[in-house]
Amino acid sequence: MKPAPFDYARARSVEHAVELLGREGARVLAGGQSLIATLNMRLSSPSLLVDINDIAGLDRIARRNGHIEIGALVRHAIAERSSEIAQAAPLVARALPHIGHPAIRNRGTIGGSIAFADPAAELPACLLALGGEVEIAGPAGPRTVKADDFFHGLFDTALGPRDVLTTIRLPAATREARVGFAELARRHGDYAMVGLAAAARANGKNFADVRLAFFGVGATPVRARNAEAALAAGDVDAAVKALARDLDPPDDVQAEGRVKRHLAGVLLRRVARQLSEAPP
Ligand code: FAD
Repeated sequence: MKPAPFDYARARSVEHAVELLGREGARVLAGGQSLIATLNMRLSSPSLLVDINDIAGLDRIARRNGHIEIGALVRHAIAERSSEIAQAAPLVARALPHIGHPAIRNRGTIGGSIAFADPAAELPACLLALGGEVEIAGPAGPRTVKADDFFHGLFDTALGPRDVLTTIRLPAATREARVGFAELARRHGDYAMVGLAAAARANGKNFADVRLAFFGVGATPVRARNAEAALAAGDVDAAVKALARDLDPPDDVQAEGRVKRHLAGVLLRRVARQLSEAPP
């Protein structure tokens, strides 16, 4: 199918993009890997596409004040090859190869993944597990939104229609940082049936600050707070049991909800083992 007609504009700066987004029905175009498909299927019909690919500086990866900042236009493939991300955000490095296929990762952007907020996507769950934050430029100026407040519902985030996501900021990994990542997909590169991104801090033989973000189990990435408490107390069996209270996955085309909850427990055991391993 072909998309409905639309206008096209290339933004010269973030401010210019925000100005162009003032037109009713305008949408940001980043890597186009999700947006163009929705246009072609006529699931959306924007009046104007605001292409942000020429905006200088949105493709930077930088360490600053104990954090790593990843510009919205950093392509998945560039992030995958980044030594800064491997060192400072090993959870993201583990998740990236699971996103689609090389052709998609060559064009798709980190900001696009977070802004699109597919509930089965890897990076929104990583952002949530790491307790990161998102920098947004909008008509009232720049603002910062914490990951816990960013995902509102199905494909619905804190971004307004005139907002541009500019940067994601993650706490840089320390020696005590532990991360784990696992997902089950029917084929490698497919969206996950269920996945789990996890972060914690080693505290003797136990963990502190455990954050478990499941994806593919609800309208947004979901924190499993009862399981987090059980894992912090060192009880993996109790953590798996607690998922019955934490997760209520709906049936979808991939699997029934009860199957997803079972698979979430399987993933939690795998990820708990990863969390116990000190980084090399
Ligand atoms: P676009 O498609 O350009 O935009 C997506 C949406 O986000 C649009 O609504 C757009 O307006 C908005 N947007 C984009 N950037 C910004 C910004 N900076 N500020 C505000 N709004 C913005 N993703 C996964 O996570 N896991 C997968 O397994 C996976 N498999 C895929 C398989 C296939 C076959 C395809 C086609 C895609 C797959 N994807 C997967 C999606 C891919 O990761 C996309 O790259 C990503 O979801 C969107 O990034 P993009 O840069 O292409 O954004």
